[in-house]
Parts: sequence; structure tokens; C-alpha cells
Amino acid sequence: MKAQQRTRSQERILNLLRTLNRAVSAQDIYVELRSRNEGMGLATVYRSLEVLKLEGVIQVRTLASGESLYSSVQEDKHHLTCLQCGASIPINECPVHDLEDQLHHSYRFKIYYHTLEFFGLCMDCQLIHSNNGISD
Ligand SMILES: [Zn+2]
Ligand SMILES: [Zn+2]
Repeated sequence: MKAQQRTRSQERILNLLRTLNRAVSAQDIYVELRSRNEGMGLATVYRSLEVLKLEGVIQVRTLASGESLYSSVQEDKHHLTCLQCGASIPINECPVHDLEDQLHHSYRFKIYYHTLEFFGLCMDCQLIHSNNGISD
């Protein structure tokens, strides 16, 4: 990858997202940086996030509320999320990898990352459900 000159603000935000290891809003980033004495204006936070996003080093997820959450691009990792207890079980395989290559060739689209989540009931919650007679 071509080395790009980042501004100090962009570096600070990227470092913060890498240490936090979770998705946060621009407002959260703004507050967190201030508490670390690395404060900058909210407009700068937004501008820097935009640049980092187009570089492919951070990813953004928009919630149903319309709020955007930012995180550093993680390794290719997916989860099974239980709707009942909220357990998040990491899985080791990624079924999308070959598809990415195909899409890249067919559409000449440069893919930075993908997201893939599975939702349902974990083994424990399935048991509770069948004990209660809720299961079909
Ligand atoms: Zn569960
Ligand atoms: Zn994947």
C-alpha cells in the first residue's frame, strides 16, 4: 500500500480507534481525545474520519437511529449473535473470502472490508426455549 501522509489529527484518531477496539461515535471520539489532552474540534474529527474511511483503515456502521459508529478495520472475523442472551460467539471460517475475489474481478471494485453477522439462538437458549414449550 502506498504510504500516505496523514495529519496529526488523523493519526490520533486512528490510534484511539485501534486502542479502543470497539465501535464509537464521532462524539465519543471527540470526548475521549479531550480527556487524553489530545482534543480537537468536532469538525476536525469528522473530516479526519472521512479521510481515514476512504483510506480503508477504519470502517463505519450506521445504526437504525442514524448514528454512525467508527472502528478500526479488524481482522476478518465473524460472529454468531444470540438474540436471547446476547452471547457473541466468534467463528473461524469466512465464507465470503472467495466471493470478494470474484466481485473484485467482475465489478473492478476495490473491496476494503466486509461485514457478516449471523443471528439466532445459542445452544443454552434453545434448551430454555424447548423446556418452556415455546419451541415448535
Ligand atoms: Zn443465548
Ligand atoms: Zn469475512
